[in-house]
Amino acid sequence: MTNKQKYLLAIESTAHTFGVAVLDFDKKILANITDSWVSESGGMIPIEVRKHHKIVSEKLYKQALEKANITEDKIEAVALSNAPGLAPCLLEGMEFAKKLATKLNVQIVGVNHCIAHLEIGETTGAKDPVLLYASGANTQVIAYEAQKYRIFGETLDLGIGNFIDTIARYFGLGFPGGPKIEKLAQECKNKKELIELAYSVKGMDVSFSGIQTQIKNLYDKKTPIEDLAYSLQETVFAMLTEVAERALAHTGKKELLLGGGVACNARLQEMCQIMCNERGVKFFCPPKPLLVDNAAMIGYLGLKMFKARLGESNLDKIDIKPRERTDEVQVNWK
Ligand code: AMP
Ligand code: MG
Repeated sequence: MTNKQKYLLAIESTAHTFGVAVLDFDKKILANITDSWVSESGGMIPIEVRKHHKIVSEKLYKQALEKANITEDKIEAVALSNAPGLAPCLLEGMEFAKKLATKLNVQIVGVNHCIAHLEIGETTGAKDPVLLYASGANTQVIAYEAQKYRIFGETLDLGIGNFIDTIARYFGLGFPGGPKIEKLAQECKNKKELIELAYSVKGMDVSFSGIQTQIKNLYDKKTPIEDLAYSLQETVFAMLTEVAERALAHTGKKELLLGGGVACNARLQEMCQIMCNERGVKFFCPPKPLLVDNAAMIGYLGLKMFKARLGESNLDKIDIKPRERTDEVQVNWK
């Protein structure tokens, strides 16, 4: 059997998104299907999100097999994002993965979701980048060194996406808030008058809670939301660009890679691109389906780990790790 006739099935379920992907053993992505929990008004409630995952999982699995044009008996391994994330969501994914692996009698590979965001960057051509990982729960500047992904800087309070979502919710917009704030920022008519916000960078760390309080207060005082959205983006994205630049200077690396849902933001991409041009650094940003939470990235890393014999036949040994940190994982597959 060639690598093209062997398949790995991957599952993502760390937070709002349930995803199923199929890859062949040459790492070609044959299907990458997602369904995300959304809300008109409130924020993410883990138990509700778990229910969503339970409802959509079987349907997504069938769609993924159909899209990849394979039958389930062709699956040779299952990759699962078992860390980090919201426990109820992780549990739903793990149950699904274990049922499937038992039925098909194949191994499960447990994949760290954050590291998957990093490794999928290889498909864009990045070889040894600094990663600016800007997602809902996570905001970190990461780079590889001596068998570990090291965290050079991170948020000291909220993840940038959660921060933006909280503001959006305060404005009465639904979840996810990022795209709505981006649109409002574009509609701002006072772009010359940046509202001064608590720009907060300490070394390579950032924090957002001060800005969050300021924006809520300004909103209560009837400051137009377009102006707030604009100043918010300009301020927090400048903070992220600054710490990414510092990490590039510190490590001497010549590539910057973006990852995470917030990296879909055109203004953040633009700021990073400008900084990279000025420094003579190459800038990489995966296409949106690989940037947001997705199962293809879990499969991509899962396949490498499986080939490095990091799959597990004893399914009792696979558990969720809601708080596993990027720099705790020993990289045994490179
Ligand atoms: P992730 O956790 O990586 O799936 O990313 C989800 C987060 O990305 C949520 O907090 C979204 O609000 C945020 N997000 C998605 N699109 C955008 C955007 N265009 N601008 C800013 N944030 C975004
Ligand atoms: Mg993510």
